[in-house]
Amino acid sequence: MINSQYARASDVADAVRQIAADPTAKFIAGGTNLIDLMKEDVERPARLIDISRLPLKSVEETTDGGVRIGALVPNSDLAYHPLIAQRYPMLASAILAGASAQLRNMASTGGNLLQRTRCYYFYDVATPCNKREPGSGCSAIAGLNRMHAILGTSETCIATHPSDMCVALAALDAKVHVTGPEGARAIAFADFHRLPGSTPERDTNLQPNEIVTAIELPARGLAANYTYLKIRDRLSYAFALVSVAAALELEGGTIKDARLALGGVAHKPWRDPSAEAALRGEAANEATFTRAADVLLHEAKGFEHNAFKIDLARRAIVRALTQAAAGTPQSQSNKKIR
Ligand SMILES: Cc1cc2nc3c(=O)[nH]c(=O)nc-3n(C[C@H](O)[C@H](O)[C@H](O)COP(=O)(O)OP(=O)(O)OC[C@H]3O[C@@H](n4cnc5c(N)ncnc54)[C@H](O)[C@@H]3O)c2cc1C
Ligand code: SF4
Repeated sequence: MINSQYARASDVADAVRQIAADPTAKFIAGGTNLIDLMKEDVERPARLIDISRLPLKSVEETTDGGVRIGALVPNSDLAYHPLIAQRYPMLASAILAGASAQLRNMASTGGNLLQRTRCYYFYDVATPCNKREPGSGCSAIAGLNRMHAILGTSETCIATHPSDMCVALAALDAKVHVTGPEGARAIAFADFHRLPGSTPERDTNLQPNEIVTAIELPARGLAANYTYLKIRDRLSYAFALVSVAAALELEGGTIKDARLALGGVAHKPWRDPSAEAALRGEAANEATFTRAADVLLHEAKGFEHNAFKIDLARRAIVRALTQAAAGTPQSQSNKKIR
């Protein structure tokens, strides 16, 4: 039995005041990850600060032509919002590839960024896990590691970040707006999630006393030639083995600009400017896409059960870029499923 107090935050300043006053407290938004972790005894917050009623539920255009998404916009509302569905379809597609309709109705945008790894050992409190208990060891390195990372791993942790939405946000160059006791700041998406290094217990660069208030998308939505391709064990309700967010800007058959990010392969959405540079100025064909995949995966390292991911990722990248070039994105259903 976890003895947790419950409090509701009245506004963002109150939420920050409450979290700063109690290092054992946790925000709760949709609760779809936090409650599961509490049930498994992985998280034991002494106090839950309910932020679900804060006025952070709007999707609005910014003065520079981008879009600002409140941290409490439910994943479903975001995917089906006309501004997102029309101008940022890669993001809509990524969101709809995740979880189930019921979960997407509850899950918030901010919570999706902060969901924790699905490493089996992280969830099993009977096993050593450096992320759950720093210094205890990593059970996955010599254990069951089929779902685990092939890029950016460390000797202390080989977990992956499980989000789909974040892979598209990384490719779109989003920004994360946060507020803490010292005021508001914006974090570039590439700097939001961390690699495990020697501190795998820290997933992000958000400070414990800060709240995510919004995600900002730049004006460029790359809506013409994009794909979000998710490879998984079942067609729904499964986390990615490998996923690819790919977008191209084409001039005739030549690639003017490109975005490429991978999910399911690292502790954060994986994006490497040199892979995108390998696409720019080149012909949009299989040879170019294969070269870019090789650049993106050049440091990939497999473990006993997940080495297959390296080849899977290479093929998924080529397929995603081919679909993006043809303007035929994998259709993750634009029908409304609630
Ligand atoms: C069975 C299942 C399948 C799933 N499949 C997928 C999938 O395929 N793809 C995918 O991407 N996701 C998947 N998910 C994960 C789901 O998307 C996340 O659980 C959800 O996005 C979390 O949002 P939430 O609002 O419920 O977060 P909560 O559970 O409320 O919170 C999660 C964490 O974020 C913190 N937090 C929440 N909001 C804020 C904020 N604004 N500021 C600071 N901290 C905050 C909380 O303190 C907590 O630590 C799945 C989940 C389940 C249960
Ligand atoms: S991979 Fe990371 S989360 Fe999984 S057991 Fe090792 S330290 Fe824990």
